[in-house]
Amino acid sequence: MTALLPLPAAYHGMHPAPTQADYERVNWREPLPRAARVRVRRHTCDCRPIAYELCQAGGLCFVRRIYQTDGIVTVESEWLRAVLAEQLWSKILLGQAR
Ligand SMILES: [Zn+2]
Repeated sequence: MTALLPLPAAYHGMHPAPTQADYERVNWREPLPRAARVRVRRHTCDCRPIAYELCQAGGLCFVRRIYQTDGIVTVESEWLRAVLAEQLWSKILLGQAR
């Protein structure tokens, strides 16, 4: 999470599309220690100040938003069934949700 320097293209991960005009506002919340083990299934490139992770914990999934400023500010979407979390993830990648 410290890579803010320019990287050769091959080292970059996915970059979300720019925010669309009619984007949906995600109800970001403070992260809660709800699960002992959270698995990151997908993530966007951390060269950007804001990175997203699609996480799974038990039977539920959520998207984590990580904002790197002077420190790191992490918030989470609501916890959803996998299929709904995948939809949210796609919208974030397409710039349709933020
Ligand atoms: Zn990148």
